[in-house]
Amino acid sequence: MKYFALTLACSLLATTALAAEPKVPATAARTAITWYGHAAFKIVTPAGKILFVDPWLKNPANKNGEADLAAVDKADLVLVTHGHFDHVGDAVAIGKKTGAKLVATFDLGNALVAEGYPKEQFGFDTTGNAGGEIELLGGEVRVAFIPAVHSSDASGHAAGNAGGFLISVKGGPAIYHTGDTDLFGDMALVAEHGKVDVMLVCIGDRFTMGPRRAAQAVQLVKPTTVIPMHFGTFPVLTGTVEALDKALKQAGAKATLRAFKIGETGTF
Ligand SMILES: [Zn+2]
Repeated sequence: MKYFALTLACSLLATTALAAEPKVPATAARTAITWYGHAAFKIVTPAGKILFVDPWLKNPANKNGEADLAAVDKADLVLVTHGHFDHVGDAVAIGKKTGAKLVATFDLGNALVAEGYPKEQFGFDTTGNAGGEIELLGGEVRVAFIPAVHSSDASGHAAGNAGGFLISVKGGPAIYHTGDTDLFGDMALVAEHGKVDVMLVCIGDRFTMGPRRAAQAVQLVKPTTVIPMHFGTFPVLTGTVEALDKALKQAGAKATLRAFKIGETGTF
């Protein structure tokens, strides 16, 4: 009887342990997003692929910029939304030391190759333009080229039109990096093609939309999470997280505002 009770207790324990096991193991890789300040992000996919978007790591708001850049020893893709210096940033340096392929419009890619991005790391496999979608890294990510209302040139080279990216990670989130842009009604179409999980939205004002218009943009895209960017780097970029928060509340937005500190990483 004693033995039976012990066996029962053990099997109950085992059952409990099994029941408590989550469907997705806690160790399952998620997608990590790191903000370096301004519009610069790193995305690490569940399979460990590393993407940099608008990688101005050495922007003046990032005190660890030099060290952050020095620490980059692996990257698979570098995505650049448009040719302005605050978005091209350290793209050439990262491309040179990691061999990362450059994802950009044909015009911008050629301009960056002229600026020193290794020519063999930019080709038809990683380029596109508004309306196009490309599958990269063996299907680990899909990148859609989204328009933006902004301008673009790269150190005097013509660099096509400015844009944004919808980066859909396999088994992970769909991340919309707006690039620099005003609010435009067709942002609503981005969400019509699939749920946007994370929206990296410019809020600085002056050269892009400010908090109030950014809140309207969020309402069009309806992401689960909003991460503000492109503010506070220079005094003229006056948009604040507080103003965005207020505008989102006034707009009745359901999206969760998640303001990253510079250097912070979140998983999605
Ligand atoms: Zn900018």
